[in-house]
Amino acid sequence: MSGIYLHIPFCKQACHYCDFHFSTSLGTKELLTEAICKELFLRNDFFEKIRDNDNKLNTIYFGGGTPSILDDVLIEKIVMAIHENFDTSSIKEFTFEANPDDLNKEKLTFLKDIGVNRLSIGVQSFDDENLTFLNRAHSAKESHQCIVEALHMGFDLSIDLIYGIHCSTSKSWSKDLDYISQYGIEHLSAYCLTIEEKTAFGYWLKSNKIKNVDENKAIEQYELLANFCEKNKFEQYEISNYAQKNKYAIHNTNYWLQKPYLGIGPSAHSFDLDHRYINKSHNTHYIQALHDRTAHYETEFLTVLNKKNEYLITSLRTMWGCSLHKLFDEKELDQRQLFLSDIQRFIKRDLLSCKNDTLFATKKSKLIIDEIIGEIMF
Ligand code: SF4
Repeated sequence: MSGIYLHIPFCKQACHYCDFHFSTSLGTKELLTEAICKELFLRNDFFEKIRDNDNKLNTIYFGGGTPSILDDVLIEKIVMAIHENFDTSSIKEFTFEANPDDLNKEKLTFLKDIGVNRLSIGVQSFDDENLTFLNRAHSAKESHQCIVEALHMGFDLSIDLIYGIHCSTSKSWSKDLDYISQYGIEHLSAYCLTIEEKTAFGYWLKSNKIKNVDENKAIEQYELLANFCEKNKFEQYEISNYAQKNKYAIHNTNYWLQKPYLGIGPSAHSFDLDHRYINKSHNTHYIQALHDRTAHYETEFLTVLNKKNEYLITSLRTMWGCSLHKLFDEKELDQRQLFLSDIQRFIKRDLLSCKNDTLFATKKSKLIIDEIIGEIMF
């Protein structure tokens, strides 16, 4: 099981909260597409070199930035390059991230034609006041229109929503969730608004133009989300990801289960079980390196400790939990014992639970699991 991730680093405008790698200047989109195609060619033996890998490419994921902003002809070039360089006969899931303002009938038809079967739509809120505050480029009306059209065309949909937004209320958040059930959406990614330093919100917070996210509001809305999910049979299979009827995102689940993946494009990361490869995150430097055939990524060798920590970080955020058998081999009994003694302080406070040699976050700790992980890492 493995996947290819394509990072398309362009956006129409900068959302006030976003610290992803993207550029709002689209002048290099042709050159960048060329560089991405080159990278696909240069790394076409990536999966073959991985130990114990079945070599089956199961997922393709276009993320960003905003992949839907790219012209059809450029998207098509990249998809062709994937087919030319990899065995795509076992693809189960082809996800495309898109913003509502890009998803008209023609774009949806095009995406269907190139094999996309799943759309991850950046709705964030169905309330125009929230959208304006976040500086999103679309309106609530455009979200409704594209969801109706995409469902009609048979795409699997995942909707991104943000809670804890300053001008949101319990009422507006409940309304957002109601739309999810009304439309019969089976996959939801819900994130609490966080204010990162180098974003517009980050600068405004520093200059007292806005306040930080209200923690009580965030908790209240998280609880509304938890109730909604229970009532509508959504499983929280990862801290921020919810699915009905086992409609888990295959591509992202593979990350969390430590499966290999190849990341193409500026700032993309790859993982081959023993190394992490980190692509140059500057668009022009990335394009230049591919053009000159000089190194366009850095390689980081993963030590046993690095791997243990990565497993802890990802697995404790999932409903499958962290297997102690996987974390410690049979020669590490002392280490395992020490670890178990250390985590008792969290088990006693009902912040971690241990069942069948597997460690889980509890209902009480889900919102603070990253802090707990930070305290028990090796
Ligand atoms: S569209 Fe997405 S990637 Fe682009 S600025 Fe907004 S949140 Fe960030």
